[in-house]
Amino acid sequence: MTTIAILGAGYGGMRAAKQLAKANTGAQIILINKNPYHYQSTELHEVAAGTKQPDEITFDIRKAVDSSVKVIIDEVTKVDQDAKKVDLKGSNPLAYDYLVNALGFESETFGIKGADENGWPILDIDTAVAARNHLEETLKRYKTSHDANDLHIVVCGAGFTSIEYLGELVYRLPDLAEEYGFPLDQVKIDCIEATPRILPMFDPKLADWGVKFLEGKGVTFHVSTPITEVKPDAVVSNDTVFPAHTIIWTTGVHGSHVIADSGYDQKRNRVVVEDDLSVKGHPEEFLVGDVSAVPNPDNGRLYPTTAQISIAQADCAADNIVARIKGGEPKKFVYKSLGTLCSLGPKTGIAEVNVMGHWKLKGAKASAAKKMVADRSVAELTDVPDIMRK
Ligand code: FAD
Ligand code: NAD
Repeated sequence: MTTIAILGAGYGGMRAAKQLAKANTGAQIILINKNPYHYQSTELHEVAAGTKQPDEITFDIRKAVDSSVKVIIDEVTKVDQDAKKVDLKGSNPLAYDYLVNALGFESETFGIKGADENGWPILDIDTAVAARNHLEETLKRYKTSHDANDLHIVVCGAGFTSIEYLGELVYRLPDLAEEYGFPLDQVKIDCIEATPRILPMFDPKLADWGVKFLEGKGVTFHVSTPITEVKPDAVVSNDTVFPAHTIIWTTGVHGSHVIADSGYDQKRNRVVVEDDLSVKGHPEEFLVGDVSAVPNPDNGRLYPTTAQISIAQADCAADNIVARIKGGEPKKFVYKSLGTLCSLGPKTGIAEVNVMGHWKLKGAKASAAKKMVADRSVAELTDVPDIMRK
């Protein structure tokens, strides 16, 4: 029997499993993930700030996939492309005929000294919960320590994850101040960014509105300030030191380490794929989501890694596997972004949406648009309608 292995049950893997099951090719579909649950990584910053609980952004994979899909809970350690098998940490290697590799992202530190040891990344449920626990314990401690640095928070980088985290953080702080009895007006939040602009992917007026919103809530942005070292109680940029007892590490991502460990031709654990999303020299193997790199034909630059593109890639990869099984021709991946949306806490945000025109939104409308996208993405991964309802 033909075996299709899908690695990772994030956006790309879940969507590929759904589409391949629907295609009913008779092949055995095996979905491998290290946890028994899927998490909506687009909402991890909310768990990290404590505005959402982990169970609000997770669901049981086995309940969410078609009953024809075999689910294996294990960690992938390596892909042997030539032998067409996947090595697993806890069980025997798995042979495949077709592969969808959707192992997703990991935190990027660029080798900066102390970043791994002293920064709190936001990359999965465990790290988001750890960041939240650290934040709460540190703020709570101020009541007895009276150490100003217990109220100092540094967010490293000002990309999407940092900005969305800051939005949730400033929203939650008044409640935390009341709960733990620390002076809200003495909380200091610094966001440190290497490049000269914040949110450059947005229209400058929208970006400025977002920055001013966060500044109005107490965030200080430091642009053109590359972080050079992270100490246990301070972030360093050349000669400038930002003391803080909470250091959130959100300076970007790279693909899964399994990519480099498996000997792919890669950069930052991302592989530039062929135009049908297969791997060069391996027409049976498809890379989707954050482990892949896809050039945008309009400008030659790589598309940013997003959930939106992971889902679109999974559709294309699933269609191309079905085509190969049935003796048809694979198709090229074509992508049209529906827009760019950035939350600034649970009730506001900024967005540029490409649906029936081009819309620039800010405030509650942008927030509503972002929530609609999040709800839609769940529907794109599973046919179980109430999977996120507890
Ligand atoms: P992932 O979603 O990373 O899923 C990978 C899966 O593989 C996970 O289930 C993981 O547990 C599993 N896995 C990893 N390694 C192994 C292994 N060795 N063995 C077995 N299983 C493994 N994008 C948007 O489009 N919109 C947004 O609003 C947005 N917000 C974001 C907010 C945050 C805080 C972050 C961090 C990212 C956000 N993104 C957003 C980006 C988006 O989350 C990623 O691009 C997307 O998750 C990538 O999907 P994926 O399927 O490639 O991998
Ligand atoms: P990112 O790469 O988008 O942003 C990281 C930021 O950190 C950049 O602005 C970078 O200049 C800065 N940085 C890097 N090294 C630094 C240093 N040494 N000192 C100071 N600043 C430094 O990464 P992210 O925000 O983690 O996002 C990861 C991916 O997920 C991106 O592709 C992003 O588009 C996507 N994402 C999308 C959304 C959304 O669509 N709402 C939300 C979160 C993440």
